[in-house]
Amino acid sequence: MIDTDTRKLFMLEDGVQVERHVRVLNNSFVFTNHKGEAISSKKKITEPLINHVVTELVGEEALPIIFYLRGKKQISEFIIAEELDMEIHLVRNLLYRLLEYNIVSFLRKKDRIKGWYICYWDFNEPMIPYLAEKIRLSKIAKLKDRLDREQKFKFYMCRSACVRMPFEKSMEFNFKCPECGGLMHEQDNNRTREQILQQIAELEKKKEL
Ligand SMILES: [Zn+2]
Repeated sequence: MIDTDTRKLFMLEDGVQVERHVRVLNNSFVFTNHKGEAISSKKKITEPLINHVVTELVGEEALPIIFYLRGKKQISEFIIAEELDMEIHLVRNLLYRLLEYNIVSFLRKKDRIKGWYICYWDFNEPMIPYLAEKIRLSKIAKLKDRLDREQKFKFYMCRSACVRMPFEKSMEFNFKCPECGGLMHEQDNNRTREQILQQIAELEKKKEL
């Protein structure tokens, strides 16, 4: 694989724009600053990392295609379908979903004998570290957003925990659970908040930098 530098900008759910530079050399990657200086230790693009990214974004059904393409070049979709014993329509559908995230790319070539166009596919391995970072950061942003809501609002619930709703909504129901009719009380959400904080801390720790 060639040495590639990827500079990517992405927007998180809360509208914050993040920029990341990743340099990939062979099967390793390093995050760099805008001057191209390494700001992380060198890490391998491992099978579990590929697994994680593909499963999160497209689904585990796309994994066989990715691991089949890994280390190969310009493989026709018919070959993929044949080798993996999969329906061509399913293969194409998964490839197009992978394409949405640039995890794969393709070249269309005209078949000289048959006269139709065939797509030849490649796995863009350098996208993996970047996408992993993007997934991690957007998960943190979502959790922070949730934490914010937990801190701002009081939540109400009946004893059987049928539904959980904010104060204003529970007032509309006269604090009676719409499911069981039981009285709803303010819920102590300390535990929920602690759990979210813990999840955030774990994700922060996982950073590749
Ligand atoms: Zn209830």
